[in-house]
Amino acid sequence: MEEMSEEMDLAERIAEALKPPRCPECGSELDYLLYVEEALNTAKFYGDDYHSWDTVAVQDSWYECPNCEKILFRDRELANKFLRGEE
Ligand SMILES: [Zn+2]
Repeated sequence: MEEMSEEMDLAERIAEALKPPRCPECGSELDYLLYVEEALNTAKFYGDDYHSWDTVAVQDSWYECPNCEKILFRDRELANKFLRGEE
């Protein structure tokens, strides 16, 4: 009996570990984060159309919950760990 419940615990822990992480703000299960980037772009303007769009600088970027849109991370490594269930 003792052994059986230990097996159950292990099975439950594995099942828990395989579940996608939950948003700490709204509790929804997340298998991805929405990456948002604010950037400075330039383009050649010929009067009727734009050509040669280029991203000159990324001014800000973050990772947010696709459900509640709260910003969860600004650091890529932390966001990655969260998705892998390590944080
Ligand atoms: Zn959320």
